[in-house]
Amino acid sequence: MRVLISGAGIAGLTLAYWLRRRGIEPVVVERAPHGRLGGYGVDFFGTGHDVASRMGLLDRLTPHRLPIDSVEFVDASGRPAARLTAALLERVIQGPHLPLMHTTLEGALLDAVAGQVELRFADSIAEVRDTGAAVEVGFTGGGSERFDLLVGADGVHSRTRELVFGPEPRFVRHLGCHLASYPVTDRYGWGRVRAHYTEPGRQVVVYPGGEPGRLVTLLLFRSPRGASVPRDRRPGLLRTLFDGAGWLTPSLLADAPAGESIFMDAMSQVVMPAWHRGRVALVGDACGCMTMVSAQGVSMAMAGAYTLAEALAAEPGHERAFARYQARMRPEVRRRQRNALLFARMLLPATRAGLTAQNVANRVITRHAFAPVLRRQFGAGSILPPAG
Ligand SMILES: Cc1cc2nc3c(=O)[nH]c(=O)nc-3n(C[C@H](O)[C@H](O)[C@H](O)COP(=O)(O)OP(=O)(O)OC[C@H]3O[C@@H](n4cnc5c(N)ncnc54)[C@H](O)[C@@H]3O)c2cc1C
Repeated sequence: MRVLISGAGIAGLTLAYWLRRRGIEPVVVERAPHGRLGGYGVDFFGTGHDVASRMGLLDRLTPHRLPIDSVEFVDASGRPAARLTAALLERVIQGPHLPLMHTTLEGALLDAVAGQVELRFADSIAEVRDTGAAVEVGFTGGGSERFDLLVGADGVHSRTRELVFGPEPRFVRHLGCHLASYPVTDRYGWGRVRAHYTEPGRQVVVYPGGEPGRLVTLLLFRSPRGASVPRDRRPGLLRTLFDGAGWLTPSLLADAPAGESIFMDAMSQVVMPAWHRGRVALVGDACGCMTMVSAQGVSMAMAGAYTLAEALAAEPGHERAFARYQARMRPEVRRRQRNALLFARMLLPATRAGLTAQNVANRVITRHAFAPVLRRQFGAGSILPPAG
């Protein structure tokens, strides 16, 4: 069986690895010309950590652990008003926790399949025709080819989803805010901490990046619509929206790179009644984006890829395999989406009164007694059955 995977991100590369391990031939097509640079950090634990362990990646990943021991909610002078300490994080997660740059994980996954799997960079699917007996795919780079199956692992703005299931607004829910992220030089002698500073309608987050002397800046702001912002407008928009903001904001904005190096997207969730149609299925953010506040996107992308590969190898036909994969994964994702929605609503209070309430809530939830509540939110354990 030959399977085309659209997208060489976390889900796509994990799926390619496990399909090959199960004797199925994957071909991966990735729009970007090469592995992506820069990026943002991800909390990596639970199911994602379990899948990485089954792939033998932990030795490769562990040395790249981001130096973050605690999370602080700071005031305008940088004083912590509440703190999620390493001890509390341990009580919440109750297992291995490996904060990483997203690109570190992607790089390790790429190395795990390089030379074993056909990878086509700088190309993308343009047309899909499911004939019932095969999927005929046309590529933007020209030419077309037949595959047994197509899997869209092409992220929250999935092209596969648009071509096969319908336009993006049908499935993507905007959560009322945008996020932007970019690297800056550490001019502050930064410690092993991730700091959050919030004002009504906007939030600034800073943490150590993947290289010494580099920090990652994350800016969140309320936005009525989920429209994408052209790259050349990003620096100007951030300067306008964060004008007058306190703490380190002015110098973080002054150090912002050109728009091409600024990641910016609406915060959204993807909710679909079905994750497969005919010979096409979706995996990862393409069908189940939960937003960054869930801290589960990587885990569910890897779990989905692992489960889909297993189902395709075990079931006699793709319909049954797709159904088994969806039945196993979709309820897990929906539960996390509902939890994330509650957190997302509280993330950026619109008013001073809302901000005061958030500060009180932060002080309460960072008490050790609240560890079980946070654990429920972050669903820290692996959802996979033990490896057979
Ligand atoms: C700021 C931020 C912080 C986050 N923090 C966390 C966290 O702490 N923990 C966590 O678990 N998750 C976190 N997430 C979420 C996590 O990054 C995603 O859920 C995860 O990357 C989803 O993986 P994916 O493979 O489905 O999609 P992606 O990683 O987005 O990969 C999609 C791939 O498809 C490619 N592609 C797109 N369109 C096409 C096309 N037309 N043709 C071919 N290729 C295409 C893209 O270039 C990309 O390589 C965070 C996300 C953000 C933005």
